[in-house]
Amino acid sequence: MILSGSAKLAGVLGWPVAHSRSPRLHGFWLHRYGIDGAYLPLPVRPDRFADAVRTLRDLGFRGGNVTLPHKEAAFTVCDRVSRSAQRAGAVNTLIFEADGAIVGDNTDGWGFVESLRSALPDLTFVGRTAVLLGAGGAARAIAAALLDEGAQVALVNRTPERAEALARALGGAIVARAWEALDALLPAADLLINATALGMKGMPSPALPLERLPHRAIVTDIVYVPRRTGLLRAAERRGLRTVCGLGMLLHQARPGFAAWFGIDPVVDAELEAFVSADIPEIDEGE
Ligand code: NAP
Repeated sequence: MILSGSAKLAGVLGWPVAHSRSPRLHGFWLHRYGIDGAYLPLPVRPDRFADAVRTLRDLGFRGGNVTLPHKEAAFTVCDRVSRSAQRAGAVNTLIFEADGAIVGDNTDGWGFVESLRSALPDLTFVGRTAVLLGAGGAARAIAAALLDEGAQVALVNRTPERAEALARALGGAIVARAWEALDALLPAADLLINATALGMKGMPSPALPLERLPHRAIVTDIVYVPRRTGLLRAAERRGLRTVCGLGMLLHQARPGFAAWFGIDPVVDAELEAFVSADIPEIDEGE
């Protein structure tokens, strides 16, 4: 990579940041499109976050991604935040505008919806029923995006109070239900989404009565390490359509790349293979 004096710069701010796949992902696109630019891993301590963001802006960076633990703190440094960031309660993308304004966006929910649309082009959301497991940061962004697409959401979480608080915060066609209600919820589900940490490498898969799902149901897991989680494999064995979590990771990166580098990048099999080269297909230990 050879940069000119007017190279476009962006990066990911996290603490730690070494685990982030974003530099590899954006680096692939920069190379593919021959862009005079770079995307850097930026380890930033929590107490230095606001100063670091303003310094990057002052150094001429175009913006960056924000990962743990800064996603909520990013609100305080932004001059404006998008509706998706407000709804998600977190910022994952920063854009530094020409006049110096710092704009915060959240693309996780959009990335989730886009990943489903690209895997299943006939899929529609209006009036569909989604059963969403989890009430953490990712579940919140997904719930908000599904509601905005016109779906109805039943939110189920290990800690019911968190699901109830999230349903109240988002409002609209969303209800919080107990884990024990899944038997009754699944027969009406068009979409089952795991947005908990269950199924990550080294963790058990969620125990679910998948036999209660109708044949039309689509099962998706936002966990992408391993790529084919125990939940997805169980759903495949029942003949259900499945979508894995890697697509969400890839699609959520597109709006930032477009804003900083000027091209809406394509998510395809070559990118997917490159970004997931070190991700195990299944968890052998499960
Ligand atoms: P988070 O804010 O920490 O939330 C974790 C969620 O998992 C909570 O709902 C929590 O329930 C639940 N959970 C954790 N351990 C559990 C267990 N043993 N049994 C039942 N539920 C359990 O995390 P997050 O940021 O939302 O991320 C959740 C998952 O999504 C992670 O695996 C992450 O890697 C993945 N993710 C994927 C993408 C993508 O692009 N594909 C993006 C973001 C996140 P409680 O409320 O009861 O604690």
